[in-house]
Amino acid sequence: MNIILLGPPGAGKGTQAQHLAQSRDMIQLSTGDMLRAAKDSGSEMGQIVADVMARGDLVTDDIVIGLIRERLQGDKRGGVIFDGFPRTLAQADALDNLLTEQGETLDAVIELRVDDDTLVQRIVGRAEEAKAAGQAVRADDNADSVRQRLMEYYKKTAPLIGYYHAKGKLVPVDGLGGIDAVKADIEAALDR
Ligand code: AMP
Repeated sequence: MNIILLGPPGAGKGTQAQHLAQSRDMIQLSTGDMLRAAKDSGSEMGQIVADVMARGDLVTDDIVIGLIRERLQGDKRGGVIFDGFPRTLAQADALDNLLTEQGETLDAVIELRVDDDTLVQRIVGRAEEAKAAGQAVRADDNADSVRQRLMEYYKKTAPLIGYYHAKGKLVPVDGLGGIDAVKADIEAALDR
């Protein structure tokens, strides 16, 4: 089974992807995590993306599609959970082609629905928790970047909702409940 977790920053994609990876022996492919790892490694690509990410802008399609293409070569176990990818229509098209090349199909696109006020509260809360625990705060978890990330989401990523609805793949899930409630809703939707 191959699924996409779609939703704005702070919707809970990463948390739910981790749960699903465990419960269904799937692999979680998070382009955000891959890009942060590239940044931390100090590679040339990492240096290019660091400022873009800190501002809250999207990294170019070529870079993220390249990362996904590379990761899709390996063992896919019980399937792939795409977390934070695709974020543009060009990425969605590229994913479609990559899956087709590998004889794979996309089973469902889980759209996590959360209102803007909750998103901002969650992201600010995540930064404060990290600070209190003495952990590194994400460079893009500040008010200006969060605003920009939301703007990028509405301009470039939200059109994917219509795209996947038209393909009959979209499964909207209320992302406002507690982590376990959302998890149960997603599991139920996938088992239908
Ligand atoms: P995330 O961890 O998913 O919130 O992603 C953090 C940042 O990484 C985003 O704000 C973008 O700058 C970049 N990023 C992650 N995934 C993508 C993607 N699929 N396309 C473009 N930029 C991405």
